[in-house]
Amino acid sequence: MITLADLPLRDDLVGAEPYGAPQLVVPVVLNVNENPYPPSATVRREMAEAVVEAAGQLNRYPEREALELRRDLANYLGHDLGPENIWVANGSNEIMSHLLTAFGGPGRRVLTFTPTYSMYPEYARNTCTEYVTAPRRADFTLDADLIVDAIEEHRPTVVLITTPNNPTGTTTSLQVIDEVCRRSDAIVVVDEAYQEFARTDSALELMTRHPRLVVSRTMSKAFALAGGRVGYLAAQPAVVDACRIVRLPYHLSAQTQAVARVALRHSDELLGRVHELAETARAFEAWLRTRGYDVVDSEANFTLFGRFADRHNVWQQLLDRGVLIRETGPDGYLRASAGTPAEMAALRDALDDISPTMLGEPTTRVDPVLQGETA
Ligand SMILES: *Cc1c(COP(=O)(O)O)cnc(C)c1O
Repeated sequence: MITLADLPLRDDLVGAEPYGAPQLVVPVVLNVNENPYPPSATVRREMAEAVVEAAGQLNRYPEREALELRRDLANYLGHDLGPENIWVANGSNEIMSHLLTAFGGPGRRVLTFTPTYSMYPEYARNTCTEYVTAPRRADFTLDADLIVDAIEEHRPTVVLITTPNNPTGTTTSLQVIDEVCRRSDAIVVVDEAYQEFARTDSALELMTRHPRLVVSRTMSKAFALAGGRVGYLAAQPAVVDACRIVRLPYHLSAQTQAVARVALRHSDELLGRVHELAETARAFEAWLRTRGYDVVDSEANFTLFGRFADRHNVWQQLLDRGVLIRETGPDGYLRASAGTPAEMAALRDALDDISPTMLGEPTTRVDPVLQGETA
């Protein structure tokens, strides 16, 4: 047996660990912002039929350009978009990898605003793009001056704005994004993984005005298709062409394309719980406030709350009671996804059981850059 240390691993990967949220088998799973409702029997059956159909040609490579799926996604987004404006891949994590492979790379920078999604530094590292950050304001919001100042300081080729942001749930207005696009020539990627849950408008509204604006979406959250691995972007056809250069050949399997198309045909059903889940998160936030917790204003299907003197202890005690949430974000905070009514009741009961004595200022401060999140 040899160990990793014996292999010629890339210098910048030495010491790195595979990273991701714990995948534990517990009764209540509220840690990765999934939609808690599986597809109905009808939709499942149609997915199975579509896969059987696709299997009839599994001896052949899949349709490399995924044109039909891209057409369906364009129709779903509206805004006069066509398939030439859409790129699709195995989750929005692959979309981000394509963007950074095409527009980042050695000698280039990608800029984000912390605290934010902790997978971004990994996409940057994998693509040899320098990862630079600027802190959000104290309430985790962004304004155009903050963003433009950071762009002028760091000169990135790609700027990532996450709205609603993970793990805070904070949104960034269209006026801010519009102004940033007017004042910068960077590629501005707006990660709208949670947009379906939000009350604020989508940056798709600005698409025709700003040729370097990219809107990234996923079917993992609102669409209840995390296991299907489908993410996509909307942009000018030239941006799509750049992604097509760097994608692996035949990156999106025939069965993934088939399942995603069935999901889109049933978007009414799959998205049917979106409003309810957003309401669930807002109701949980109101409940937390009555209990004296500090709660961040969110428009997503999750809540960041605290502050705990020792958040790891609280996380562990919740887990001991069968409730898995996420230890992420600024020190002293925990994040919980919106679940079913029964799951939320279990979370509230567990919190009431343990935490009144747990609130307080954390004693250590941790670099917010490292306090992001993986899903
Ligand atoms: C969950 C999440 C995604 C989605 O990732 P997929 O690879 O599509 O599952 C993207 N961005 C953010 C900020 C997320 O929280």
